[in-house]
Amino acid sequence: MIETRSAGSTWSGNHRYRATEVLLPADLDELAEVVTSADSLRVQATRHTFNDIADSEGSLVSLERLPVRIEVAADRVRVEGLVTFAEIAPVLEAEGRALHNLGSLPHISVTGATATGTHGSGVRNANLSSAVRAVEIMDAGGRTHRIDETHEWFGAAALSLGALGVVTAVELQTEPTYRVTQQAYTGVAWDDIVDDVERVFGGSRSVSVFTTWGDPAHDLVWAKSDDGPPSWVEELGGLAVGDEIHLGRIRTVDNTTPRGTSGPWHTRLPHFRADALPSDGDEIQSEYFVPLGSAREALTAVRALAAGFDDLLLVTELRTVAADELWLSPAYRRDVMAVHFTWRNDTDGVLAALPAVERALAPFDARPHWGKAFTLPAERILATLPRSGDFADVAREIDPRGVFRNAYVRRSLGL
Ligand SMILES: Cc1cc2nc3c(=O)[nH]c(=O)nc-3n(C[C@H](O)[C@H](O)[C@H](O)COP(=O)(O)OP(=O)(O)OC[C@H]3O[C@@H](n4cnc5c(N)ncnc54)[C@H](O)[C@@H]3O)c2cc1C
Repeated sequence: MIETRSAGSTWSGNHRYRATEVLLPADLDELAEVVTSADSLRVQATRHTFNDIADSEGSLVSLERLPVRIEVAADRVRVEGLVTFAEIAPVLEAEGRALHNLGSLPHISVTGATATGTHGSGVRNANLSSAVRAVEIMDAGGRTHRIDETHEWFGAAALSLGALGVVTAVELQTEPTYRVTQQAYTGVAWDDIVDDVERVFGGSRSVSVFTTWGDPAHDLVWAKSDDGPPSWVEELGGLAVGDEIHLGRIRTVDNTTPRGTSGPWHTRLPHFRADALPSDGDEIQSEYFVPLGSAREALTAVRALAAGFDDLLLVTELRTVAADELWLSPAYRRDVMAVHFTWRNDTDGVLAALPAVERALAPFDARPHWGKAFTLPAERILATLPRSGDFADVAREIDPRGVFRNAYVRRSLGL
């Protein structure tokens, strides 16, 4: 008898899953039993999404009872089961290996992050899905496909939105371990940031700008560098902040990673520590990706609207993501500026505010973050993703019964 639990809600509580239950297979045979008997199924991983992407009209399945395996060999790590970045990072570090980048928090699952194009920052850093070298996917017939870079489906499978089947294992590219020093600065003028985004965002390995779009007291440049504190921020008038760090209007809690000292990559690349609640907790997030070359115009367009959403906004974070070749990637064949919003946890207010932001970004062919709140319809999103038709073909071939296609996939991909 396969164990079950209730579906609950997303991490921030903004979406209560409509699925009747979460099935908890203990091994791959039980997982095959689950997928073959389901009419409608989605995987629930660490629930750090802000929409119904992981929901289902039927049941959910979690890999949380499956055995976890983390195998480091040569320049790869293979992870099996429900594994977070917080769990694999120390294992990699002990072997002298590292990942090329991390998101703002290590609490999220490898499968969920790679399924949605989760990213950190850096003009030369592509998103976390770009590190995928192979995935193993169990389809709705219970068959497992190993899809590596030589497979014709790879561009769909490495960033699949969970729409192809259950990812039971992922192989990621690793590199030799490296150290990072991070520092946060106030005092860099908005005009200096938007006038030369290449200088600011290319100044260090990973750069984030936090802003509330008006009050310079809320603006912060957060640089993560390979070679000690960088000189470029101070040349732009930046003043290093001490222990007191404020991310816009996010409640200040002791949850950030150490600044001012050098440390292994995984202790500095995420903003938030693995042992603390990340961000604010009581929030909704949205994010849009525009071509890096249009960043100045796109940011100016959003800033013109900012007074209209000020009461909803906790903070905006600006980051960059390098181009990749994954068919549904927000960075598919384009270096992008990621324009992120952490909103108050007010679903009606956020859903009412988003269309104006989306209209302002429409001239820049903005793509949404798949795991965050957006209202763009399928036709607008698909028009920005030239291989989305090929993704749909793969989804229909690997999952002819449509078991892994939920309301979100139908609404956002027209599938
Ligand atoms: C505080 C906070 C900070 C964040 N920071 C960032 C950031 O810095 N950068 C960024 O890009 N995003 C960020 N996000 C968003 C988030 O990391 C991503 O949206 C990510 O998808 C969350 O993964 P998850 O496993 O927690 O989510 P889930 O909702 O559990 O899963 C995400 C999707 O992946 C699918 N999936 C998961 N596992 C499998 C599997 N084994 N097989 C098939 N499908 C699977 C699910 O069905 C779902 O569709 C942040 C979120 C929070 C809450």
